[in-house]
Amino acid sequence: MSVFSDAELTRYSRHMILHEIGGPGQRALKAARVLVVGAGGLGAPVLLYLAAAGVGTIGIVDDDMVEASNLQRQVIHSTATLGHKKTASAVAAMQALNPHVAGVAHDLHLDPDNARNLFAGYDLVLDGTDNFPVRLTINAAAVAAGVPVVGGLLSQWEGQLSVWDPAHGGPCLACIFPEAPAPGLAPSCAEAGVLGPLPGIIGTMMAAEAVKIITGAGEPLRARMFIWDALGAESRIIRLRRNPACAVCGESRGAGVS
Ligand SMILES: [Zn+2]
Repeated sequence: MSVFSDAELTRYSRHMILHEIGGPGQRALKAARVLVVGAGGLGAPVLLYLAAAGVGTIGIVDDDMVEASNLQRQVIHSTATLGHKKTASAVAAMQALNPHVAGVAHDLHLDPDNARNLFAGYDLVLDGTDNFPVRLTINAAAVAAGVPVVGGLLSQWEGQLSVWDPAHGGPCLACIFPEAPAPGLAPSCAEAGVLGPLPGIIGTMMAAEAVKIITGAGEPLRARMFIWDALGAESRIIRLRRNPACAVCGESRGAGVS
């Protein structure tokens, strides 16, 4: 017996006829538990496309409210949800798009302790945060839980994307960026500004990487970083290497040295 209702079979038919996804891939999407950290610019397209694609359980971590300055790019929210919790606004939008998936709201500020417990309940984490220290917290918790991270990063007109997955030989975020940059060197979108469609582009690519990882289709962006410069309309991919001495995923981790 199919795990899908007739309504789901119709809804997912364009996936089902893709050779690389098909019925098995769509079943894997339905069984998947994916956690999205940040229901902002990157989280908006990530959450909508994961819900539309039929990812069965989608967790959302955010403790912010929807503000008017968010709506230039955070398209999962709307004028009608101004002042609402971002998690509740996002879950409602996902349910409106696809009632066959479950959105789970985690209204909390991520810290090293709660991150590790939370991540253990998910297969994959998507990092759409706008804050480097939080990104390193996510990385450390994901490495500890053995869960890959699809990470996106925005700065004004440029976006970056990579899959951090040391369990499959690639680097973790800390292999490349061991420490948060000095204050001012990596300003947030609130400080430096960001092109509205840019998180749409990078976030949608994050969702595509998630679908690939879950279904086993193609080659995820492990050990590679995709960079998109919207001003020049140019993209490039740089190769990344794991750092064997990385304090988070390297060979000496957990040695108890303090
Ligand atoms: Zn590492």
